[in-house]
Amino acid sequence: MRPLVGIQVGAISFVDEGVEGVLDVAQKAEVNALFVATQAFDRGLQGRQILGRPHPGHGPDGPDDHWGGSYVQQHGEFYRGTVLEPFPAADREVQGFDVLESVLPSARDRGMKVFSFILENSHSGLTKNVPNWPKVLQHDAWGRSDMYACMRNPEYINWWLSLVEDQVKSYALDGIMFGSERNGPLGNVLENGGFARDGKPYCFCPHCVSAGERRGIDSRRAAEGYIKLHELARGGDDSKAPGDSSFVRFLRLLLTYPEIMAWEQLWHEGYEELQKRIYGTVKFLNPQVQVGWHVWHHNSFSPLYRAQMDFTKIADYSDFIKPVMYNNCAGYRLHAHINEVKQSIFRGVDDQTIYDLYRQTLGYEEAIAFDDLPAQGLSTDYVRRETARALGGIGGKASVYPGLDVNVPTPPHVKQTGPAEIADSITSALDAGADGIILSRKYSEMSLENLEAVGQTLRGRAL
Ligand SMILES: [Zn+2]
Repeated sequence: MRPLVGIQVGAISFVDEGVEGVLDVAQKAEVNALFVATQAFDRGLQGRQILGRPHPGHGPDGPDDHWGGSYVQQHGEFYRGTVLEPFPAADREVQGFDVLESVLPSARDRGMKVFSFILENSHSGLTKNVPNWPKVLQHDAWGRSDMYACMRNPEYINWWLSLVEDQVKSYALDGIMFGSERNGPLGNVLENGGFARDGKPYCFCPHCVSAGERRGIDSRRAAEGYIKLHELARGGDDSKAPGDSSFVRFLRLLLTYPEIMAWEQLWHEGYEELQKRIYGTVKFLNPQVQVGWHVWHHNSFSPLYRAQMDFTKIADYSDFIKPVMYNNCAGYRLHAHINEVKQSIFRGVDDQTIYDLYRQTLGYEEAIAFDDLPAQGLSTDYVRRETARALGGIGGKASVYPGLDVNVPTPPHVKQTGPAEIADSITSALDAGADGIILSRKYSEMSLENLEAVGQTLRGRAL
């Protein structure tokens, strides 16, 4: 069977280059499935090429007006009774443009599938423009409203279910891909949760506290433990236990407050519950519509997050998964991740030792100097190994479409995607048995040269 060849593309690209123009380029890359960004507050999915980055050879070379929200027409009847309402994107370039309505007919004519890509990310802070958003925010361990919405807040859950129902009923979609690039309180404190996060522990809102108490977890002990962990992770208690490393004190805290680990898992189960509600909602409305998940890159760096993203369990509520395997930028991102944990629980341990521990526990063979990671990236063999690992976990219950790195933006000293790199990563994913691939992060960043290489590679395999 022909593999699915997907591409992620934001609304602005169709406006800038015309629907037919984008589809012409995509078809030259043998793309047969569009993952159209329909809901996002995140520049990783929407917007033009990031300013200062090399022009990709298509699209305008200039700034854009990014506000985030919905890039399709929303219908009020689906949102009745929810505190959050329809929120159309105010981006100047896409006013009056419904990306699904505009793209679906042409995509159908060309035999291309259309998936709606919905991203839950809100670390841009643009959600502050959405009326009533403060009412769905998490509560941190000190009881303050947090920067992010709570996935157990019924109003927030209902908003996503409204949005999904609206899209499934209003557009003839082949599928929905939902993504959330967030982690639980333990990951957030120890690893700072990746880019643009604040390292605070959460969520202690009434909904999460009730869920915790139903599981027999003492929420006050959990909050107390997390406040101590937050202090430890920032070196605030170094003087109190001289002689014991931060890692030893971290273990001591886990032994004293087992609620820390329990609250972390409670948070993660909240995300799983939201995913299961979305999956079941779509299947209730139209069983033909495929439901899958963007599994963010953190899964490649954090053993804690990887332990939670158990593909054998995820398979039960998935038609497909897209595990991110951006090998070129992975070195840079793993380097940054190690630098985070070095400052929290591995203070005093040298970089190379932490990196070697991580790469071996994660199953990476890149035995290189730690500081060479950004420039070298991870190999395409990482793509092969991670594809095989995902397929093994999913066990044939869902399709696996690795997300591949096509010009994912990084600073100039970092390994960049070229035609040879993308050809190798496609070959690695498909040779490992992937059901398809998804070119990422977004079309507006991808160079024409690399997209041509994608087409050549796939045509070469077909022969
Ligand atoms: Zn909560």
